[in-house]
Amino acid sequence: MSRRPSASACARALWLLGLTPPVDARELNAAWRARVTRTHPDLHAATERKAAAAATLTRALNEAKETVADWIEQDLPWPDAAGGPQVVRLDSGPPEPWPERPAPPQVARLCTRTGLRAGDLVRIWPYAGDELETVRGTETDGDDAPVWVLLASGGAARSDRVRLAAYGCPVCGLCAGPAVDLPVVRPCPDCLVDLRRLEGRPAEADRIRRAIEARSEAGLAEATALGDGVFLDRARERRRWARRLREAGSEDLHAALLAAFGRAFERWHATAPR
Ligand SMILES: [Zn+2]
Repeated sequence: MSRRPSASACARALWLLGLTPPVDARELNAAWRARVTRTHPDLHAATERKAAAAATLTRALNEAKETVADWIEQDLPWPDAAGGPQVVRLDSGPPEPWPERPAPPQVARLCTRTGLRAGDLVRIWPYAGDELETVRGTETDGDDAPVWVLLASGGAARSDRVRLAAYGCPVCGLCAGPAVDLPVVRPCPDCLVDLRRLEGRPAEADRIRRAIEARSEAGLAEATALGDGVFLDRARERRRWARRLREAGSEDLHAALLAAFGRAFERWHATAPR
């Protein structure tokens, strides 16, 4: 069967499975099996609720596997959103070998260690003033080595001295100044980490819901300090949403969180800077 998945669906599927493209069928199966084994409903049979949450996740993993399998089968160009911490440059896309074909959308890679991607606005330590830098990419010498954030201005800074700026998170309502005309709407780094955790451990859903509620409070305070009405409305709405989920059953909560993260991730992917 060969339905044609969208590039953003493929990027999300790769993210859920923890894969970095290019991926072959063997790697896909290994990643899928490792995750499904960990979350199989039978392993979580201690309570009916846990088993139900695990079943929801297993369904999501099965869908992700199907999406990536379709991608491999149809030999489509890989989206880059699940890219690792290698050097990533917005301005160095590969040459298009067949100029008469429409160029695939240029999507900036996401650094899985920092959650940053080219085009993000950041502040550099000591975070004084309203001076912003634009991220060009990230670079590292290995998994244990520090990550360097490359800046459009030509410099670089260690990732622990870089803070995301001028953005609002559509999942938790966290935001950061300074106020600019076009703030970036993107999942905050904490929400990206929580998406991964949720994927591996459905039992974490309640803790993650509480963390989201806490971040919505922080977002509310920050938006008030900034005097930004758009950020303020979003943080209020996300707080209401997180509070409503207090009453949700385990499976509903897990599904609601996965859906919210998934929607935010796809929209963010679709609005990649060029
Ligand atoms: Zn967030």
